[in-house]
Amino acid sequence: MTGLRLEIDLDKIGHNARVLVERAALRNISITAVTKVMLGSPDLARVLCAAGASALGDSRIENIERMRDGGIDAPMLLLRSPMTSQIDRVVQASSMSVNAETEVLSALASAARASGRIHDVMLMVELGDLREGVMPDQLNETVRHVLSLPTLRLCGIGANLACRNGIEPSVENMGELSAMVDSVETTFGTEIEIVSGGNSANLDWALGSSDPGRVNNLRLGEAVLLGREPLHRRSIPGLHTDSFTLVTEVIESRRKPTKPWGRSGQNSFGEDPEIEDRGVIWQTILAVGRQDTDTADLTAPEGVEILAASSDHLIVQTRDRMRPGNEIRFEPGYSALLRSMTSPFVTKGPAPR
Ligand SMILES: *Cc1c(COP(=O)(O)O)cnc(C)c1O
Repeated sequence: MTGLRLEIDLDKIGHNARVLVERAALRNISITAVTKVMLGSPDLARVLCAAGASALGDSRIENIERMRDGGIDAPMLLLRSPMTSQIDRVVQASSMSVNAETEVLSALASAARASGRIHDVMLMVELGDLREGVMPDQLNETVRHVLSLPTLRLCGIGANLACRNGIEPSVENMGELSAMVDSVETTFGTEIEIVSGGNSANLDWALGSSDPGRVNNLRLGEAVLLGREPLHRRSIPGLHTDSFTLVTEVIESRRKPTKPWGRSGQNSFGEDPEIEDRGVIWQTILAVGRQDTDTADLTAPEGVEILAASSDHLIVQTRDRMRPGNEIRFEPGYSALLRSMTSPFVTKGPAPR
């Protein structure tokens, strides 16, 4: 593997998954391991299943199909409400999907009937972060709708926090979720098997001292892959935080002043950068840009400082001249990783041993 590449250490990811599965099990919480950042890689899926994940979760049906094609037969949860245009594929490939829309539920039921299947539904309820889910006062009518459709099975109730507005899981909102589950069970005389409290942002709450109540599942991506909880981006003790490395290549390195000259307007991204004058420096250019990663979400090694990025150039300050062809290794955060995984210009491969 040469050039611009993402090195992936599946052993470290497997270790992280195993530790999190064990810690959560002590609180009777199962782990749905989330594969979307790695585009549903079957190799990742095998590692996560071996580590004890109870199911795999992905937001894209394409990724779930990729895992099925790769021979993965674990239960799979589609983490985003199905697109109406993809309903048949959802029923075919995923065993479960998250839902909030009655129209989508009806379409899922028809598709399941047509293919002689039962589709499992996790109803999402809004707890304040304002992304997916029904408002709490609409939960009962939505449950009634699911229960009226014989090819659907209500397997769980879930919630998602933190992703849009950074709203934290708390004793209050998690308590509200448990209370709603109790109330649905009493009202409808049905048992809710899975209560999925949230994503990696729920770990502090779930593994802390508060009573998990009815919550018996979490859906974890970032914590498993990057060993961090996303609310404060703190590393989780005992986990690897360096499972991924973005390796970049030097294409130019020149002594240059730090201050631009000439009349200035906006740059190509509509920004009007403030430049600090540091005198003359070694300005080194790497063959990677905003098309390939989130350059603001890279951690540079000692002696390298990121100055700016355009579509195809990352401009860094180095202590000395770097030779064209030299490599510089960065640690990507969640956003940088997400974009690197989807850039066709970034080669993906195993970390060298
Ligand atoms: C992506 C996603 C997750 C996983 O989130 P992490 O922060 O990576 O743990 C969980 N639930 C839903 C609905 C998601 O879309």
